Amino acid sequence: MSEPLPALPPVRAPVGATPTVRRRLALQRSRPLLIRAYALLLGDAGLAGPIARRRAARFVLRSLPALVTVAVGALVALRGFESAAGWGQVAAMAVLAVALGALVWRRVARAAAGEQAGYREQLELGSLFVVAAYAVAQSASFGHAESAFQPVVYLVMAFLVAFLAPGVGAGLVALAVTLEALLWAGRGARVAELPEAVVHAGFVTVFAVLYYAVLAGQVAASRRDERLAIERRMKEIDHLARAFRLSVAAPDDAQDPAERERRWSEGAVIEIEAAVGGALEVAVAALRCHTCALFWLSEDEKTLTLLDCRSPSEAVGREPLPAGEGPLGGAVRRRSPVRLHGEVKAVSYYADGTRPKALLAAPLVDPRGGHVRGVVLVDRMEPTPFTEAEEKLLVTLAAEILRAVGAERLMKDVRQTRAEVDRFYRSIERLNRTRKLSEVYDALVGVASEMVTVDFAAVALRDEVDPSRVRVVRVAGGEGDRTGAAGLDDLEFAMGDGCLVSSAIKIDDVLPVNALDPAKTRVFGAVCLRGLASLKIFPLKVGERSIGALVLGAKRAGAYGRDAVQQLLVISMHAAQSIDRARLFDQTERLATTDGLTGLTNHRTFQERLDAHLGQAQRYGKRTSLLLCDIDHFKSVNDTYGHPVGDQVLRGVARTLARAARGTDVVARYGGEEFAIVMPETDTGGAMVIAERIREKVGQLVFETEQGPLKVTLSLGVATFPDDGAQKPALIERADACLYHAKRHGRNQSVSAASLRAPRRAAV
Ligand code: GH3
Ligand code: MG
Ligand code: MG
Repeated sequence: MSEPLPALPPVRAPVGATPTVRRRLALQRSRPLLIRAYALLLGDAGLAGPIARRRAARFVLRSLPALVTVAVGALVALRGFESAAGWGQVAAMAVLAVALGALVWRRVARAAAGEQAGYREQLELGSLFVVAAYAVAQSASFGHAESAFQPVVYLVMAFLVAFLAPGVGAGLVALAVTLEALLWAGRGARVAELPEAVVHAGFVTVFAVLYYAVLAGQVAASRRDERLAIERRMKEIDHLARAFRLSVAAPDDAQDPAERERRWSEGAVIEIEAAVGGALEVAVAALRCHTCALFWLSEDEKTLTLLDCRSPSEAVGREPLPAGEGPLGGAVRRRSPVRLHGEVKAVSYYADGTRPKALLAAPLVDPRGGHVRGVVLVDRMEPTPFTEAEEKLLVTLAAEILRAVGAERLMKDVRQTRAEVDRFYRSIERLNRTRKLSEVYDALVGVASEMVTVDFAAVALRDEVDPSRVRVVRVAGGEGDRTGAAGLDDLEFAMGDGCLVSSAIKIDDVLPVNALDPAKTRVFGAVCLRGLASLKIFPLKVGERSIGALVLGAKRAGAYGRDAVQQLLVISMHAAQSIDRARLFDQTERLATTDGLTGLTNHRTFQERLDAHLGQAQRYGKRTSLLLCDIDHFKSVNDTYGHPVGDQVLRGVARTLARAARGTDVVARYGGEEFAIVMPETDTGGAMVIAERIREKVGQLVFETEQGPLKVTLSLGVATFPDDGAQKPALIERADACLYHAKRHGRNQSVSAASLRAPRRAAV
């Protein structure tokens, strides 16, 4: 014989192996079964090395059930069990019993280890049972064609169909029908005996089919019940969650946005907890587990922390577990369920080292992005492995938990965007409501501060009369910060001076485009801003023209993102419209109440304001003085210098009156070259001081004319409420009388009603 072959492994030929060795190795790889049979039969010790021998022995052992089945089946077909019991039959029955016993014992052992029976095992067991049933029935027939034990065959068939896979059941029915046919043929294939054989075969088939149908129906019904129970529970959870949301009290009722947000978050957490709790309870009920727990994966994916748990054990740890270890780690890593049974080792979630006998862990895989968020776990203390259907249920529950979390996140997003949109529209509404210019500036700065971080804000507008000039009309924040904003109020600069504000107004766009240092850039005229890391200037546009700019600054960098800039641009447009409208409103109001030539309060408004002040003086028991004045010889001014010079004089005198009066006084053009001043809370003495001051100032005025310098004088009359008149007409009349007195007594003087009364009293 050639040199001995090596044992089965290694299959790769050793270096320097002869062609014969290589050929035999190749043969060994491709036909191991043949080689084993060959080795066993020929006793080729070299060929069947120790491993090959062991494998061959295992092959024979594995073939034994089939051999016994075939042998017993052949005996049945040959009617070997019909004759009276002899040693042969006893031996055959004993072999059959041993084989059946061995197979049943093997099944029980495997079932205990959580191993399900494969098709081969089912077929081995089932066919052995079938031939055994036939052998028993035949041994009780005592030579007759019909055995009293024939029902045993039917019962065994029904029993097998109930436990084995449908395909195996069909195979067994085929085996029984074949045996019947063989028996009939063995008895001489007599036509008269055919109906009996057909009835036997038919009964076997009908029993099997009926039993299968009943069983399948029952299984389907119980599965449906189970599904309905789970659905019912899910609905209940949904209902509970909604009830929870309501019980957290309509969060929209809260006025404070932070409080509203806190209530929403609280509601969301309760809802998620309810969903998680519900899912775990379903798992406990449906999976008959010992512990059912949800672990959440940390942001850095390094640890798993217990979120919720249902377990009779006190030892389930609350400490974070390393996310890379054990079955939980396996589920996280593989992103698919892990199913273990037998002596499960390395479970870190029991603090006391408890070892479950079966375990199932399903990862919570986020459908968006596929990230693992956590693991839901069930285990058992008895050695009953989790089935595929149970795995599916747990995966469904895991998805349910994730959905609950996801839905809450979505709700939060929606709420946030809704809140943003609400705020945006509220801002626009607030801007649209404003009537006065100062209100618009305040609203604009306020709205911007609500939307973004604002540490400094300013509004700069082009001059209405001279659009080449820009004036800062409002400054907010930045004073105490040495931003350089202190001197900004009312600061004026030229449109063409190249600073950021005038550039933004000129190009009608947001500046700066890229971040720059406001401390090194001229923002308002020559003024730079210190201590700000973010700066944005928004043009205030009305249609095609820019009327000014909104300037916002923040200490932190990147304070004005793209979305915020877009929103602020829209807000700025609305603000510009509001400013335009307020200016128009102001103008109209001014026109209605002021005198066109001098800018002073007109006669109608003077009458109204005098009424109001007298009313107040009466109510609070205060004095109010009225001053009336008239330019001396004004007719001659007109006549000598012309009407335009006369107008110039009127404006000059009016300006002098306005400057000399106090903030609370009402300075009006009473008519022609006559003026009036209402002085609230002022007695005759106070009024006369002002009257004299005015008279002196007017006397000092010099009007440059073509005919040389022109000077004018003023005559004034003062009356005080209530001393000189308790009613408006009387008071006016008294003041007018004083003025007349001044005119009559040399002009360029102030006369009070009191001074007119005094000499008379003195005279009396
Ligand atoms: P007297 O010192 O007595 O007040 O003398 P007078 O010339 O001022 O007298 P009178 O009150 O009669 O003159 C008023 C003149 O003021 C008549 C009118 O031409 C002139 N006047 C009235 N309104 C205007 C105006 O809006 N512009 C100009 N330029 N003149 C006006
Ligand atoms: Mg006059
Ligand atoms: Mg006059």
